[in-house]
Amino acid sequence: MALGIYLHIPFCKAKCLYCDFNSYAGMEDMQNRYVNALCQEIQNAPDGDVDTIYFGGGTPTILPSHSLVQILSAIGEKYDLTPDCEISIECNPATIDKRGLSALRQAGFNRLSIGLQSANAQELKALGRIHDFQDFAKCFSDARDAGFQNISLDLMYGLPGQTMESWQNTLKKAAAFQPEHISCYSLKLEEGTPLFMQNPTLPNDDCVREFYDYAFSYLAEKGYHRYEISNFSLTERESRHNCKYWKCDDFLGFGAGAYSCFDGVRYDNLRNVLDYCAALETGKSPIAARIPLTHEDQMSEFCFLGLRMSQGIDTKEFQTRFGENIEDVFGDAIKKNLRRGTLLRLGDRLCIPPEYLFVSNSILVDFI
Ligand code: SF4
Repeated sequence: MALGIYLHIPFCKAKCLYCDFNSYAGMEDMQNRYVNALCQEIQNAPDGDVDTIYFGGGTPTILPSHSLVQILSAIGEKYDLTPDCEISIECNPATIDKRGLSALRQAGFNRLSIGLQSANAQELKALGRIHDFQDFAKCFSDARDAGFQNISLDLMYGLPGQTMESWQNTLKKAAAFQPEHISCYSLKLEEGTPLFMQNPTLPNDDCVREFYDYAFSYLAEKGYHRYEISNFSLTERESRHNCKYWKCDDFLGFGAGAYSCFDGVRYDNLRNVLDYCAALETGKSPIAARIPLTHEDQMSEFCFLGLRMSQGIDTKEFQTRFGENIEDVFGDAIKKNLRRGTLLRLGDRLCIPPEYLFVSNSILVDFI
């Protein structure tokens, strides 16, 4: 089976107030060093066919487009890319212009994921985002002009000061651009972030649930089907790369703090950008940990990641992959949730009914 590749670009123009990702502002002087280290890591990696590539971060588009093209070329030299290879890049409004987007499109990038988060100026400010809605609108139309026919938007709900009305407005404005894909994530207050320290007043759990339910019904009306808890797309515009994670398919992650899952082993890279570069510059491996996944770990991951998707898991595939009947391994969890109505059996598939997807964590724990 062809591999997915993830590339981590850990740079941002400014750090958003809620963000605890491995990303840093003010490290412009490290960018060239980092790109060279990344290309070196790609060269040293195992071979294979590749059918999805994803540049995430951080803000990948903070790098000059020629550096992004250099990284993509390094992948093209090392791997056989399938003709329909999905090549995605995350982008923040106000970090790339039409020329840069055209250069990316010409180099083969064919999917853009734009971080809009909200159409409301106060909410963007509360999150510490560096862009406004006009920046997003320009970025979107530049991307279309540059030839991107597959664009995804990221939105957030459960924000400080957010009301149902402002969330409806964000969804309406986002859908009006007719992107092919929309992700809706609820804000998680991560300890240690500036937003956490502010101890903001957030919409309560019932409101957050209502925001989510509204997004589901509004986006369905607009032709977007929910294929994973937080992800909605037009027909056949699901993120093929992200589906690999939920289906537990092999992928390689390159860059500081990236991880790979390959042949039943998880590999974690050094998280610190300087340590990562220094390792590759001195001929050492950037891998900080090699964690073999037990048979039990893999069966468990197959279920709790697969059940995040609307289509759920294929019990026959479980048998093929692991040589065991799923009922023999997770019989109690399956029976309990079927009885409660929190799991459905549809032919060979098991899935969480739509009305329980939002609270799926309480179901997924039974498979751990
Ligand atoms: S742009 Fe993304 S990665 Fe960068 S600080 Fe903001 S949320 Fe974090």
